[in-house]
Amino acid sequence: MRIVRLETFTRPFVAIVRVTLEDGSQGFGQMSPYHADISTEVFHRLVAPKALGQDGTRIEAVVEHVFSEQLKFPGTFLCRAIAGLDTALWDAAGKREEKPVWALLGAGGGVVPVYASSMSREITPDGEVERFRRLGDAYGFRAFKFRIGQKNGRNGDAWEGRTPAMIRTVGEAFAGTRVKLLVDGNSCYDVEHALRIGRMLEDAGISQFEEPCPYWQYDDTRAVARELDIPVSGGEQDNYLPAWQYMVATDVVDVCQPDLCYVGGVSRALKVAKIAEGGNKPVMFHAANSSLVTLFSLHVMAALPNAGSHCEFNIEPNAFHDVSLDRFFSPPLAVDDGAVALGDAPGWGVAPDDDWLAGAQWRESALADMETRHAGKAIS
Ligand SMILES: [Mg+2]
Repeated sequence: MRIVRLETFTRPFVAIVRVTLEDGSQGFGQMSPYHADISTEVFHRLVAPKALGQDGTRIEAVVEHVFSEQLKFPGTFLCRAIAGLDTALWDAAGKREEKPVWALLGAGGGVVPVYASSMSREITPDGEVERFRRLGDAYGFRAFKFRIGQKNGRNGDAWEGRTPAMIRTVGEAFAGTRVKLLVDGNSCYDVEHALRIGRMLEDAGISQFEEPCPYWQYDDTRAVARELDIPVSGGEQDNYLPAWQYMVATDVVDVCQPDLCYVGGVSRALKVAKIAEGGNKPVMFHAANSSLVTLFSLHVMAALPNAGSHCEFNIEPNAFHDVSLDRFFSPPLAVDDGAVALGDAPGWGVAPDDDWLAGAQWRESALADMETRHAGKAIS
């Protein structure tokens, strides 16, 4: 069933995609957040011309076709744009079969535990403990992640002594409870510093150390993972599948954290999960960009045999100026008892807000327009 129309609704941070197949069925997806105008341009220039006219029921094949047709441009913006196509096609598939995406993917249920993920390096140790306790009481979160070091910080800190104080204070606050604590170094440390911080984390009962070293320095991350007892996680920026094969085969990380949208959508995220499974590694999706990426990640995690304990859930209010989560799509994601229940509505089970769409920049690529220029090459 051919893809006949691809529309985008773009605001500065986020772009929504609507796909229409030749029987009139539709689905909504979303490109990866940040610089949505650039992703939209890539979408209409590099993705749509190769996707229009293809069989929209063969999602993996369509995504692979676009990649193989754009073999000179395999980088992040192609992946970001393709994520919009892929996720719209999964929504359409779910609506066609009247099943939620988690059920299409073979999950037995759609309830997924989430961890409360702090994005803040301005917050004090006491402030973070207070926030975690409050969110734990209100929503039942039983896992929390806080930030240490500085983003790509060359061993620096937000202010002197913040990281040891955070580790000590948050660790002590939840010592002896069943709460799971994770930290994210965001590429901050060299091996020596990462090992020193890692020992502190182990002593404080923290159970996961994310991105201790610059993420592109695989040897450093591997050395830290090998030396420490605390599991080391990472991979949110890695969108190149051979990189994932290498990372898993050589044990760069203990826990794989692909970002479903950075990597190019559900089909490619499933490939990463399969690679991780081959190395007996759990997958905990990176879903820091509070938008539909969290929802997509939850649906897929529900179905993964090697799903990690929790999916990420951003706790910062209004992470994007143009995405107020209670007005961007409905129903909004609700955390109860530390988990999100995805429900049985078909597809992604949500609808973009009409006002949000109306306020976005609209653009379309249509098969009818393209056929007047040249015929699309069919998937063999
Ligand atoms: Mg991270």
